[in-house]
Amino acid sequence: MTTELEHVDPRNPDARVIARAAACLRRGGLVAFPTETVYGLGVDALDRDAVRRLFEAKGRPSNDPLIVHVSSIEEAGALVIAVPAIARALAARFWPGPLTLVLPRSSLVPDEVTAGLETVAIRVPSHPVARAIIAAAGRPIAAPSANLFSRPSPTQGAHVLDDLGGRIEMIVDGGPTEVGVESTVLDLSRNNPIVLRPGAVTLEMLRPYVPGVRYRTGPTDDEVAQTSPGMLSKHYAPRAPLTLFSGDPLAVREAMVTMAHALAAAGQRVGVMATAADARALGEIGVVLALVSGDAGAEETMVAVASRLYAALRELDTARVDVILACEPAGADGLGGAIRDRLRRAAAHVVRVG
Ligand code: AMP
Ligand code: MG
Repeated sequence: MTTELEHVDPRNPDARVIARAAACLRRGGLVAFPTETVYGLGVDALDRDAVRRLFEAKGRPSNDPLIVHVSSIEEAGALVIAVPAIARALAARFWPGPLTLVLPRSSLVPDEVTAGLETVAIRVPSHPVARAIIAAAGRPIAAPSANLFSRPSPTQGAHVLDDLGGRIEMIVDGGPTEVGVESTVLDLSRNNPIVLRPGAVTLEMLRPYVPGVRYRTGPTDDEVAQTSPGMLSKHYAPRAPLTLFSGDPLAVREAMVTMAHALAAAGQRVGVMATAADARALGEIGVVLALVSGDAGAEETMVAVASRLYAALRELDTARVDVILACEPAGADGLGGAIRDRLRRAAAHVVRVG
């Protein structure tokens, strides 16, 4: 299959490209497009055959459910048994945006989308290209991240082409995505709502609407009944083993620099996910650096790290490093929690320092 690649202005996408993407989706085609989080691989959520082809193209196990993307809370209504007041309030505050809500599904949603679960995950994305394509398609669009299963999620059109070129009908390239980590997944189908996956919408932001909300701890009931690989501990991983340093920020950097020196001296090709300050501490030794941020203030830095995280992992893979070293962000607040979660899933080893 030849994959059609189209570049568009992310703020004002060419209407002809959007119309072609929408027509392709309506025919059961697979179309990758940017969202504000990462690139999604879209398919008509109500077309079972197309959904099966999507799982095949990604190499994704069929027991990992998909998020359905819609244009509005009204459109979400048809996919669920009911829209509870709490979902309405959350949608009013956070949609369009990087928050996914899990609710009891209606019979309209095929089993293939939900991996047989009685719930469905739904969100309204804010990226103008995603919004335009979903509106033009006039259907709910199931869209997991547009990467091969277990690879880091794509945050640039080129990442999608690398993973899925020749396997899908079309890629709409709207430049790098803004947030860089996948949406927050909030399960509202239970009595006590929990965040299944941390993202840019943080616990602190959710608390005014969902007072008792917390992160998931152990596996959920659904996962006990049927494992959900999206939550698998090893996920989003680069090819080279990643060693993650966790603990007191200064001690962590020192430990990482020491290990980088030792491995480089032993002849290993070392890749480091580094802030500008890490890069200075590493000095002139021969390591491959993937910069994740400049030297801005703490929260600004987390925003920068999140947006660069997956691109940095892919750059180090392309540079064919033998090992990757990275430091965990100090705070678990804000985006720090989401970055930590993705780094832990990508890591082969975690070294606790201090
Ligand atoms: P991806 O689209 O690749 O970012 O992955 C979607 C994520 O949403 C996966 O981690 C799934 O486990 C999660 N998800 C999708 N549907 C449901 C559901 N019905 N219940 C719980 N988690 C879900
Ligand atoms: Mg994914």
